[in-house]
Order: sequence, then structure tokens, then C-alpha cells
Amino acid sequence: MNFEYPPAAEQFRSELRQFLAEELPEWWNRLFVDDERIIPFTRQLCRKMAERGWLTAAWPSEHGGADADEWMQMVVREEMWAAGEPRGPQYMNLNYIGPMVMKFGTPEQQERFLKPMAAGDVIWCQGFSEPGSGSDLASLSTSATDGDSCFVVNGRKIWISYATIAEWCLLLARTDPDSSRYNGLSMLLVDMNSPGIDVRPIPSMVGPIEYNEITFSDVEVPYDCLLGPRDAGWSVAMYGLTRERIGIAFHASLKTVFDSLLDYVRNTEDSTGRPLAERPSVRAGLARLHAHYRAAKLLGYRVIAAEEAGVMREMDPAIYKVFATEAYVFASEVALESVGTKGQLTEEDPLAPAAGFFQHWLHSIPGLIGAGTNEIQRNIISQRGMGLPR
Ligand SMILES: Cc1cc2nc3c(=O)[nH]c(=O)nc-3n(C[C@H](O)[C@H](O)[C@H](O)COP(=O)(O)OP(=O)(O)OC[C@H]3O[C@@H](n4cnc5c(N)ncnc54)[C@H](O)[C@@H]3O)c2cc1C
Repeated sequence: MNFEYPPAAEQFRSELRQFLAEELPEWWNRLFVDDERIIPFTRQLCRKMAERGWLTAAWPSEHGGADADEWMQMVVREEMWAAGEPRGPQYMNLNYIGPMVMKFGTPEQQERFLKPMAAGDVIWCQGFSEPGSGSDLASLSTSATDGDSCFVVNGRKIWISYATIAEWCLLLARTDPDSSRYNGLSMLLVDMNSPGIDVRPIPSMVGPIEYNEITFSDVEVPYDCLLGPRDAGWSVAMYGLTRERIGIAFHASLKTVFDSLLDYVRNTEDSTGRPLAERPSVRAGLARLHAHYRAAKLLGYRVIAAEEAGVMREMDPAIYKVFATEAYVFASEVALESVGTKGQLTEEDPLAPAAGFFQHWLHSIPGLIGAGTNEIQRNIISQRGMGLPR
């Protein structure tokens, strides 16, 4: 079995790398840091990628894509995450928000919402979690009741990434007030400029845009912004969440840690003049890391192959997400242990080892929680994948 990409995909990868080498400014580090230049830059880069047909390459041409296969999209994903995701929040549009509109949207919704995404012109956020409803999403209580000629939304959402800069929100709300759990929910497409929306940033270790709380107070949402069937939004949400779990190429982030660490230990001596690469503990860590990288990558490719063949099961992205996020954390830990106390220095410090390994460690942790915690993914694998009891 050959696990290599076809030559055309590798050629495309080279072009993409060249493009990034030319476009990424010298100050660029990665998306999840506190720097106000980041979002304007990511918007600019997305437009340039859109002009080349790379932003939504795997979408059908009728929706602004280039009819490329999912493997091309995986090449983009790998190169972007290896570079710290310079597409910014728009990676969500092409991975799952756009595909949800393609699958469940009316022709009018597709025309209205997909073209701006394909052009790199719009940022979306995803409003699912609530203060009392995270893992148990079906318990959510944000309501969308019937007004004169629209839904009227009231409630609170929390941990919503990019809400301060998003123009639109994919909102899961309860449209049947007498319902409970999975029934009576609907997916709404909400203009973030609507009156009654208040966004409060939540300070965190991953920068100022990552977590926010949104309060909806009598927010009017037109009926034509209902995505998919009314009161049956749970299946719409699950379709999106399954795709979201493969949207971040954690194995590519891991590889950047691996490559930097390899380079560092080869070229750095300890206080006795002995190269770090000769230390048994460092070598053992690197060997395990190499194996983890390969396994994570192949699990990701397994999902793409299943998707291309139309046989993807819900547990496939869950398996990738669990293994790859934990491998990324492991990579950062191996790096910190191999480098020693210096590994805790951040990139701004002149004494920090090449890749600022501590930053990777910091940024690897949220991956265990976002898009459904790894405990929940394990439940999906065991219950829905293996048929084990709850
Ligand atoms: C980086 C990041 C970005 C995020 N972005 C968004 C976003 O854009 N939009 C959005 O809507 N949400 C977002 N979230 C929120 C995320 O979806 C929730 O944090 C997550 O679903 C967990 O919910 P919770 O925080 O309420 O934890 P809880 O559900 O309270 O869980 C607490 C702990 O209990 C465990 N647990 C809970 N239930 C079970 C169970 N049945 N079996 C085993 N263990 C269980 C969990 O695994 C966890 O360890 C983001 C989170 C992160 C970290």
C-alpha cells in the first residue's frame, strides 16, 4: 500500500509553501496569540488564496470552489496548520460551516452565504456551548421563539471563538419551548450586527479572540435564516461537528515540534559538551514521537479516504481527534523535557530554543477540549462505534 500523495498534490504543496514563504510577514507567529495585526492579515491572505482557487478548493465550482478532491484540501490543511493557521478563523467556513450550508441550505441560502465564504470575505463563529451545556449540548436552553414575522432569540452562549470579529454566527437554539434534549432544536444563521447581541471577550492563555460570551436579548432573526428543518437541528449540528473534528491538522502542528526539536538536539550541547542528541532519554522521546506522528497522520488520512469513498462513520474523526490532539500535547511535553528549563521560555525571549516549545505546549492543551472533549470522543467511539453500553 502506498501512503504517498500523488505527484500533482505534492506539486501543489510546493506552490503553497512558496506562496506562504512570500506572504507570511516576519512578525507572523501563529493565530492564537495576542497581536492586533493578526486578523487583518488573515483576511488579506484568505482573499489571496481565494483568488488562486485555494481557499475552498474542494468545494464544487457552482459554490465558488475548484472541484478538487478532499486530498487537495488536506494538503492545504496540513500546510496551514504547520504554519500556525494563517487563514485565521476562516478555516471553519470551508471545513464545516460551508458544507453544512451546502447540505441543508435552500438554493437562496447557498447563493447568499457560500459565495462570500469562497471569496474569503467573511468570518463566522459557532454558537453552540452554553454556561450549563457543553458536553451535554442537548440540554441547551437558548430559545428562539416566534415573533411577528421572525424568530426572537434569548439566551447566553459561552466559549465562542472569534465572536468579537465574526460577521455571522451559526447558532443552535431551542425553537420548541415544550421540547427537551435532542428534539425541538434548530440551526439559525444569525447576523452578528443584529440589535440585542452583546459580546464579552473572556481573557485566556490563548489570546484575546479565542473565547467569548455572547448574550442574546430579544434578537430578531428572519425566518429565512433557519438552516435545515425546524425543530430537527440536532442532526444538522452533528453533521457539522463530525466534520469539525478533522478540520484541524493536529498532526501537522505536531510535526513542526518534531522537526524543530530534532534540529535543536542535533545542534545543541549540554553543559558537559555532549550533544543533546546523544542522550538516551532524548532519543527515546524522539523515537516515540516519530511513531506518534506517523500514526496520527495515517488516522487523519483514513478519515479522508473514508469520506472520499462515502463511508465515513461518526467514530472515524473522533478517533483522529483523540489520538492527534494527545500526540500534539505529548510532542510538546517531549520537547520541554528534552530541552530542559529553557524550554519554558517564550519566543520573544532571545534565549528561547528555536520554536518556543512552551508556546506549543500552551496551544496544544485546548485541542483536548474544543469540538467536544476527548472523553466525549471516547464515548462516541465506544458507544456508537463499538456498540458498548452507555
Ligand atoms: C479552544 C476551544 C474553542 C472552543 N470554541 C467553541 C466555539 O467556537 N463554539 C462553541 O460553541 N463552543 C466552543 N468551545 C467550547 C467547547 O465545545 C466546550 O468547552 C466543550 O464541549 C466542553 O464543555 P464544557 O466546557 O461545558 O465542559 P463540561 O461539559 O462541563 O465537561 C467537564 C469535564 O467533564 C467531562 N465530561 C462531561 N460529560 C462527560 C461524559 N458524559 N462522559 C465522560 N466525561 C464527561 C468532560 O470531558 C470534561 O473533562 C471551545 C472550547 C475550546 C477549548
